[in-house]
Amino acid sequence: MSQNTITDWETRARQLCIEGRCFINGEYREALQGQTFDCISPIDQRLLARVASCEQEDAELAASSARQTFESGIWSRLAPTRRKAVMLRFADLIAEHAEELALLETLDMGKPIRDSLAVDVPATERAIRWSAEAIDKIYDEVAATAHDELGLVTREPVGVVAAIVPWNFPMMMACWKLGPALATGNSVILKPSEKSPLTAIRLAALALEAGLPAGVLNVLPGYGHTVGKALALHMDVDTLVFTGSSRIAKQLMIYAGESNMKRVWLEAGGKSPNIVFADAPDLDEAARSAAAAIAFNQGEVCTAGSRLLVEAPIKDVFVEKVASALREYWQPGHPLELETRVGALVDQAQTETVLGYIRSAQEEGARLVVGGRQVRQESGGFFVEPTLFDQVTSDMRIAREEIFGPVLSVMTFESFEDAIAIANDTIYGLAAAVWTRDLSKAHLAGKALRAGSVWINQYDGGDMTAPFGGFKQSGNGRDKSLHAFDKYTELKATWIKL
Ligand code: NAD
Repeated sequence: MSQNTITDWETRARQLCIEGRCFINGEYREALQGQTFDCISPIDQRLLARVASCEQEDAELAASSARQTFESGIWSRLAPTRRKAVMLRFADLIAEHAEELALLETLDMGKPIRDSLAVDVPATERAIRWSAEAIDKIYDEVAATAHDELGLVTREPVGVVAAIVPWNFPMMMACWKLGPALATGNSVILKPSEKSPLTAIRLAALALEAGLPAGVLNVLPGYGHTVGKALALHMDVDTLVFTGSSRIAKQLMIYAGESNMKRVWLEAGGKSPNIVFADAPDLDEAARSAAAAIAFNQGEVCTAGSRLLVEAPIKDVFVEKVASALREYWQPGHPLELETRVGALVDQAQTETVLGYIRSAQEEGARLVVGGRQVRQESGGFFVEPTLFDQVTSDMRIAREEIFGPVLSVMTFESFEDAIAIANDTIYGLAAAVWTRDLSKAHLAGKALRAGSVWINQYDGGDMTAPFGGFKQSGNGRDKSLHAFDKYTELKATWIKL
């Protein structure tokens, strides 16, 4: 881990030469119409860069470059071992630029530098490296045919992939898509969020330096309703992969239906239940984990454990333990201080949304136990205390809607059936956790929970080997693991008469 002080990071921040242009066909360029938007740091509202605001014309140019490269075969037909070598070099370059990328991510999005260094950069590197290592270990199939026939079942890259990603883990979300998309030979157009475009723009140069041919990766910063929509409606984009809100996810399905029926794969929102039974093996550990599950990354996590369901006999004791953990470990601080665990929310709009939910919880009768205030306003940044509400009921807005901020709702349950019913009473199905020392109860809960990831006696486990994605309105398809490769390939059956 870096030993840099806040002064060192500030010095490096001033020295950064931040690239804000889009990246098409292997080179940085201004948006065709020359428009830009201001990229502002949520830490103190300093201007970081003027970023190209891409539109329809830029989407056209990037799509045509991606198509040409794909058809040329320069990447799509390159031998797997050679694709693998380029991607491993890309992963190495991410590791070599770890501090620069971490600093950019923190300045752009407000998360603590300790997390950018310890979580975001390593996970980004792993996503590329893991996908690269898989390339030459995947085999196609031979069908069970009659003696005089041969049936081949093969996978081919889909072609041009558009990847639209959110702002909460900007480069990690991008590379959960780029890893398998590039590994399987596609050409990609990446659209980062307008709230945090900087690391995606930087990654493009590292990929080129690693040897990725020009045109295979294009990066188009800009707004969702302009360049995002243009990509989603584009007739020459074969597959659209998305991480973001369920509201926009639904819109993308409409765009696909209105255009070329492109394949659409969606990783969307969550309202994940964290269920603590009275027989949890270690209540202190469960409480520390529940605090982290809502405060890590300022609660701006799709799998945030935002609904804490506690069995009645231990509820008061447990809530006090979570409250102390939040008070002790999870107070907002300057994101460039290595000790800081809670940074700035991504922008003013998100801060207002979070404060609005806190007000609505109070109006609806929930009991505020910890937090609830905007703090550090003198810094010019957007900081909100991790907040815990007790006595939340299923009909309250904070129990039903994804807040995407550090606001935890505690609900009480009386029985196993009650816990599962409350947990599943949501439009989402991304993740869920269960704390119990009873193995059968843990497994039965795991089966009953309608969620793509279930954690037992922990929160947020998993790595590149496990598929990640949602049930219900949390989306379809999976990121990570070999299952992710399905999204980026078409299956072909070739039948040969011998
Ligand atoms: P968002 O849906 O507002 O935006 C996501 C992306 O879509 C951005 O790049 C945005 O510019 C783009 N976009 C917006 N409107 C568009 C349009 N009309 N056409 C095309 N693109 C458009 O989400 P957000 O606020 O950036 O991110 C927060 C959301 O992401 C939360 O709901 C969170 O749960 C979800 N998320 C999910 C996962 C997961 O893996 N399931 C991971 C991280 C975040």
